Amino acid sequence: MEKNDLQYFKLVGQIQNIISKSNTLEEAIKKCLSVVLSIDKANYAVIWYKDQDLLRPYYWICPIDITSASETIEHSIVGDVYTQNNTLLLPDYTHNRKDEIDTRFKGVNIASYMCVPLSNASQDLGCIELIKTDGMLSQEDADLYEILLLLIAMQIDEKAEFFSTTRHTKPVISVRDLKKEYINGEYTTQVLKGVNLDVYEGEFLVLLGESGCGKSTLLNIVSGMETPTSGEITFLDQDISKSTQDELTLLRRDHIGFIFQSYNLMPNLNVKQNLDLIAELVDHPMDSMEALKLVKLDQKCRSYPSQLSGGQQQRVSIARALIKNPKIIMADEPTAALDYETSIEVLSSLEAVKNNGTTLVMVTHNEEITKMADRVIRMRNGQTYEITINRHPVKATELVW
Ligand code: ADP
Repeated sequence: MEKNDLQYFKLVGQIQNIISKSNTLEEAIKKCLSVVLSIDKANYAVIWYKDQDLLRPYYWICPIDITSASETIEHSIVGDVYTQNNTLLLPDYTHNRKDEIDTRFKGVNIASYMCVPLSNASQDLGCIELIKTDGMLSQEDADLYEILLLLIAMQIDEKAEFFSTTRHTKPVISVRDLKKEYINGEYTTQVLKGVNLDVYEGEFLVLLGESGCGKSTLLNIVSGMETPTSGEITFLDQDISKSTQDELTLLRRDHIGFIFQSYNLMPNLNVKQNLDLIAELVDHPMDSMEALKLVKLDQKCRSYPSQLSGGQQQRVSIARALIKNPKIIMADEPTAALDYETSIEVLSSLEAVKNNGTTLVMVTHNEEITKMADRVIRMRNGQTYEITINRHPVKATELVW
């Protein structure tokens, strides 16, 4: 048997195994795509699904945020691949519509490009783009990918409501090519290396990544607590990358609620007084008892922080973030210092905040928490590298770790 044949049989076996063991089809697709990329022929991939007369991105492994992108079926490269049901292979990446691809993958170095239809015997589902950043994709690679993707598509039951439609609202925050470096004497540390992302109104976005990958730095910069080295940040249509410290202070005061790992409550004030203190600083505060009801702590309004458990104190800090009626709440590892049960109580309060309509961004390194998010952005080494749209977020009480 040829080496390539062996590799092929191994991959097919691996994919069949994943599909049979996955609880949901979505989980299967995600894991299969990781396998498809692990063979080191392509670096990035985007799955497009058909939604009425458009193609929309569903899941991608790539350092860009194309959540709200859509392509027409008649006038786009992905649309052509979808309608003609033919693989498009551009081994050395020259094409008369190269600009169209470049615009969408702005900032990504494309050496070789391929787009494969995703269809099974009964229906055309969409297509998958594959990109190699450092070398050519061959016809042999294209054949291999076609077979692997066919295998994936065959698993999609035509009755399954797999690619359901999500409409994305306006972004509250847009970040483009954001870089941050720290200079300490002779040493320069590049912490953010060109981050692209959008935060949509009303969504619960989780930023996941190993410690040190730059999550907190990113959160601090988009909240106006730190300044970037370069890049664009739009907050409610306003470019804040060049704002003055005073302008950033106002932005934080009026529009952003913060929740940190430490609760930072005033020890000499009771729970309600802690909230009222913040309410006095803003124009249209929420009623403090209403905020406490949302986190189920209205009964404790006269208690002092020292009389509360860690989880309860964190829930007070959630209510305190909410009291300003902020455009967005940023939570940096809010459960890192808590045990499992208390963490679930805190996450349930955050879920209530999201259900109340507030946009929420949470940084965590706990993989399990991603299950309750609307979207998950994975970071690695100062860049976002994978975005998942979660069609079926689970309740905080269903999380287990
Ligand atoms: P995460 O939140 O993912 O754990 P951080 O954003 O806190 O990561 O930190 C990312 C990297 O930036 C770390 O390696 C950290 O040491 C470095 N870093 C953060 N702040 C500074 C600073 N002021 N000077 C130098 N390096 C820093």
